[in-house]
Amino acid sequence: METAQLLYPEVRNYIAGNFTSSEAQTLEVISPLDGSMLSTVPLSGQKELDEAVKAAQAAFPKWSAMPIKERVQIFYRYKTLLEQNLEELTELVHRENGKTMGEARAEVEKAIELTEFACSLPQLVAGEILEVSAGVECRLEKKPLGVVASITPFNFPNMVPHWTIPNALALGNCLILKPSEKVPISANRIAELLTEAGLPAGVFNVVNGAQELVEAICDHPDIQAVSFVGSTKVAKIVYRRATSNLKRCVALGGAKNHLIVLPDANVALTAAGVAASMSGCAGQRCMAGSAMVGVGPVDAIIEQIVAEAKKIIPGENLGSVISKEAKERIERYISEAEKSGAKVLVDGRNATVKGKENGYYVGPTIIDFVTPDMAIAQEEVFGPVLAIIRAKTLDEALQIENQSNYGNAASVFTQSGGLARYVIENASAGMIGVNVGVPVPREPFSFGGWNESKFGTCDITGKSSIEFWTQLKKTTTKWNPEAGINWMS
Ligand code: NAD
Repeated sequence: METAQLLYPEVRNYIAGNFTSSEAQTLEVISPLDGSMLSTVPLSGQKELDEAVKAAQAAFPKWSAMPIKERVQIFYRYKTLLEQNLEELTELVHRENGKTMGEARAEVEKAIELTEFACSLPQLVAGEILEVSAGVECRLEKKPLGVVASITPFNFPNMVPHWTIPNALALGNCLILKPSEKVPISANRIAELLTEAGLPAGVFNVVNGAQELVEAICDHPDIQAVSFVGSTKVAKIVYRRATSNLKRCVALGGAKNHLIVLPDANVALTAAGVAASMSGCAGQRCMAGSAMVGVGPVDAIIEQIVAEAKKIIPGENLGSVISKEAKERIERYISEAEKSGAKVLVDGRNATVKGKENGYYVGPTIIDFVTPDMAIAQEEVFGPVLAIIRAKTLDEALQIENQSNYGNAASVFTQSGGLARYVIENASAGMIGVNVGVPVPREPFSFGGWNESKFGTCDITGKSSIEFWTQLKKTTTKWNPEAGINWMS
C-alpha cells in the first residue's frame, strides 16, 4: 500500500476553533480510486464529544443573540471561499469518495447553492405579529434550539454536510458534525474555510468517529436535535435512540427508486436519463434510479439504454465504488439475480482499470426480466446496476413501486401529461420526476423522501429545514390602550 505522500496527513477533530489531536484509535482513510492511503481519522468517543458540546454551549449565547442579518454575512464570505477553492474541494471529494471529477465538482457546486439558500434566510424567517384585541398583540418568532448535531454518510462528503451546516448555523444554532469515517477529509477543509470566513470559535465543531460516537450523540443530554443521513438500518437506530432521549430528529435512510417507462416515451431522452440515473456516482446516490419498470412494448428503449450503458467506462466517465466490500456486495446481487433467471444484458462484474488495479470498480450493469420478488428488485444495491422489471399495465407498475419499503424518489418517462399526472398522484415517494431521472428539488424546495427513506416530520433542506432548526416563541403583550393620550399635557 502506498503511504509515501498522504493527501491530508491527519484528519483531526475541530473543537472550540482549534484542530485537536485525539488519543483515540485511528482508522486509515483509503482512496477507492486506487486503494492508496490518503490519511488517518480518529475514532473519537464520549470524551471528545463532551469537549465539543461544551465548546458549542459556550458559543451559543453570543451566536444566537447576533441578528440573523449579521450571521449570514459570514455565509456570504464562506460562499465566496467555496467558489475560490472549488477545484481543491472537488479533488478532495474525487480522491476520498472515488466519484469522477465532474461529479465531485457538481457536488461542491450544490454545496455552494445550499450556502446561497442560507444567505437568503433573513428574507424567510421573519416572525408574525397581530393585534388580537385592543392593546393586546401576539407575536411569534423563530428561535434556535441550542447545540445540535449532524451525522453524514460516505456518498457525498461535501454536499450532505452542507444540507445541515449553513441552515442550522445561520438560524442561530451551534453544530457538531460527525462525518462518515470513510470520507472525513472534506469536513476538515469545510472547518478551515468556515474559520477563514469568520465563524466564531465553538459555533461549528467536527468530531470524527463511528458507531460509538453516533450512540453518544443520540444519548447526550445537551444536544437538542439530531439530523442523520445514511442507510435505513442505521436511520432507524438513530431515530429511535435520539427520540427516546426526547430529542428532535430527522433521519434520512436508503432508497430503491423506480423509473416507470411508458411505451410512448421519447426513446433518446429516456435512455439517456435512465442510464445517467442508474450509473451517476457509480449508483451510490440515494436518488439513483436502480429499478426500471417497463410498461408494455419498451424494447426499443431498452436497446437504447444498453447502447448508452456501453458508453460508460470505469475509470473514465464512471468512478469507483467505495470499498472492496461494496464491490463484492454489488457483484453478489448481480450473480444472484442471474441465477434466479434474470438476463444480464450488460455485465459490469470483474471490472478493472489499468494502472488502478487496487481500486474498486464495477462497470455499468443492465439486467432484464427481473421479477419483483428478487432481492435485486427490493433491496438497495448502491452500485451502477439497473434492474428492469416488465409490467403489462401502468397500474401494475405503480403497484410494484408502491410495494417498496422505501419511498425516496420515483420517476415516469412519458409524453402524456395525463399519465404523468396519474403517476405523480399514485406513486408512494417524496420526490417525483417527470422525464427526469434524478428529481432532486433545487432550493428553496426541500429534500426528503417518504416511508423508510425518512423518519421524522421535516425535510432536511429548503424551507422545511427552517422548522426543524427552530422553535416558536409566542409572546402576548398588553398595554393600556389609553396610555399616552394626555401624556404631554
Ligand atoms: P451508513 O448508515 O452506514 O452510515 C451513515 C453514518 O452512520 C456514518 O456517519 C456512520 O459512521 C454511522 N454509522 C454506521 N453504522 C452505524 C451504527 N451501527 N450505529 C450508529 N451509527 C452508525 O451509510 P453509508 O454507507 O455511509 O451511506 C450510504 C447510505 O446512505 C445509503 O443507504 C444511501 O441511500 C443513504 N443516503 C441517503 C440519503 C437520503 O437523502 N435519503 C442521502 C445520502 C445517502
